[in-house]
Amino acid sequence: MPQPPRFPRRLAVTLATSALAIASGVVALTVAAPAQPAAAAPCTGYVALTYDDGPNPSTTTALLNALRSAGARATFFNMGQRVQQNAALARAQQQAGMWIGNHSWSHPHMTQLSQQQMTSEISQTQQAIQQATGTAPRLFRPPYGETNATLRSVQAQYGLTEVLWSVDSQDWNGASTAQIVQAANSLQNGGVILMHDGYQTTINAIPQIVANLSNRGLCPGMISPSTGRAVAPDGTNPPTNPPTNPPTNPPTGNPTTPPAGTAGCSATYRSTGSWGGGFQAEVTVTNTGNSALNGWTVRWTWPGGQTIGSLWNGQLTQSGSSVTVRNAGHNGSLQARQSTTFGFVGSGSAATPSVTCSSP
Ligand SMILES: [Zn+2]
Repeated sequence: MPQPPRFPRRLAVTLATSALAIASGVVALTVAAPAQPAAAAPCTGYVALTYDDGPNPSTTTALLNALRSAGARATFFNMGQRVQQNAALARAQQQAGMWIGNHSWSHPHMTQLSQQQMTSEISQTQQAIQQATGTAPRLFRPPYGETNATLRSVQAQYGLTEVLWSVDSQDWNGASTAQIVQAANSLQNGGVILMHDGYQTTINAIPQIVANLSNRGLCPGMISPSTGRAVAPDGTNPPTNPPTNPPTNPPTGNPTTPPAGTAGCSATYRSTGSWGGGFQAEVTVTNTGNSALNGWTVRWTWPGGQTIGSLWNGQLTQSGSSVTVRNAGHNGSLQARQSTTFGFVGSGSAATPSVTCSSP
């Protein structure tokens, strides 16, 4: 969607500074401000940076380095055939804390395909990403943003949430780094910007995009598989929708202020949706102690033959009806009272098992 042109505030500041420099006889160079760590300012909202069409041997590594340097996490909508050819790069995306979505196998115009061909594009890509990273995607972005009811029904069969975008960076259309930065300035809370893993201009825009977002109180977040909108990296959506998990319901007998140096965890299970033959749920893990928790494990037993198809923000082990979920690489360390959330799609009928948490 094109945004109405607006006079950028950053440009006004630059002009004022230059005028001052000229007035005082100093030669001024206009240099982009260095990226401020996202943690420097409180996050009043979240946006999602997304990169399509990778992994790409000529750009993915540099893109990941730029994101890491800026302290930003992003969502990569990968093509299945490129994941198959570059599995190590898909693993590098995951290890850098990025989220990975499905962007079809071969980037066709999906709405021109038969339902069977759509299924093949989506299922092969789910498998390739699962094989490369151990986790199947929860998000699907159709190439060119082209979708229809048949495609949506195939997405639903794979538990995929369709993600389009609220801002198009136009990097695919020759936009300069400055134009990509300018596009990102129109992101609003919950918004998603379309970019690509394939252009140096896109990589060069990252420090300034993150700095400008930070100046507006916005932080890079993840895309919620429930809503397709940007939320905080752990899946919560502050400040309008704070988690309702503990400490509202602390374990009986636990003192409100535990002795110094203790760490413990609690887990809360929440069903987030169900349909014929399947369901989706989330588990929030909270450090109930007053020192850092390093690693956590959540366990439960299904009452009636349920199985988990795909899980995010954790590492899944299933054995019969027993489920064990350990922390992922990026969410194992929890400060006192801090929470993280993992979620999954299951098959079978929705249930609310009793869950336990232990550390590590
Ligand atoms: Zn694409």
